[in-house]
Formats: sequence, structure tokens, C-alpha cells
Amino acid sequence: MTDMNQIQNNLQSNVNTPAKTTFSDELRIVPWWAFLLAACAFIGMQVLMGVVVAREPNPPPEFARIAIGLFGGILLACFFMLVGYVNSDARRRGMNTWLWTALVFFIPNAFGFIIYFLVRQPMMTSCRHCGAMLLPHFRFCPKCSTPRTAVCGHCATPVQPGDQFCNNCGRMLAEPMK
Ligand SMILES: [Zn+2]
Ligand SMILES: [Zn+2]
Repeated sequence: MTDMNQIQNNLQSNVNTPAKTTFSDELRIVPWWAFLLAACAFIGMQVLMGVVVAREPNPPPEFARIAIGLFGGILLACFFMLVGYVNSDARRRGMNTWLWTALVFFIPNAFGFIIYFLVRQPMMTSCRHCGAMLLPHFRFCPKCSTPRTAVCGHCATPVQPGDQFCNNCGRMLAEPMK
């Protein structure tokens, strides 16, 4: 009985949580350099409109300079944050990180971002046994050969964590789910 509970506990703690993320979770993966670039771009835009453009011979009126500075600054900041997001997001999906970062940065009119979000791979998950990263098409862990999902030891049907009997062959799932 304790064995059974043990197995069940292992299964529950090892199961991969589905990739459900909130906006703040997504924001957390934006690397520090992207925040830095965003802040610099925003401040730079204010300096450009408030100091440099203001000294031009025929400067635009003050409200226009403030509006352009704020709007342009926010736009630039968002751009750098998104570039940083793609950099981290591509990495956790096993895609070519710096290639995609360069593409979204250099392709004009945000087309790079559109292409990226259309073609990006599903998220990588980690092995429930050893924690190695598994690419989306992996069925077994390349480091320890654990199957991606728990299966019945008799008939290899995928089983849910917490199940005590196989839903296909009806045998007890007493074996560790390898
Ligand atoms: Zn593994
Ligand atoms: Zn079975």
C-alpha cells in the first residue's frame, strides 16, 4: 500500500504541468538586457525630443514634442522588450535563438515578429525523471530513456498520473511508470 502511494506521489510530482502561462509569466522571461535597451530607448527618445529637437531653428510646439517623445519612446521600448522575449522564447522552444532574435530585429515593419509567432515550435518540456530538456518530437528522454508520458508497464498505453489501473488492459499499475 505504501508502495502504491509512493508511486502515485512520484507520478503526481513528476508530471509535466501543461504550458499555461499568464502575461506576467511571459514578461518574466524577458532578459535583463532587453529591459535595459527598452529603458535607454525610452530615455533617449525623451532627450531627442526635449533637448535636441527643441534647439532646432523651428521646433515643433511643446505638446507635439512631448507626445511624439512619449509615443515613440513607448513604441521603441515595446520593440526591444519583444526582441528580448523572442530571444528567450526561441530558446525554450529549441529554436535557433540568435537567428530569430536577428530576424525579428532586422526585418522591418514587425514582419519578423509575425513570422516568428506563426512558425514557432511548441514549448520544450523537461524529463519527469532527470529534468533534461525534451524537444517537442521526443518520445523518450535522450539522457535516461524515460518515456515523455507515463505509460502502462504491460501494454504501453499512456496513463494519467494518479491512475491505479491501466485504462486499456486493466492491470494494476504497480510497476514504476517507465
Ligand atoms: Zn530523463
Ligand atoms: Zn495496460
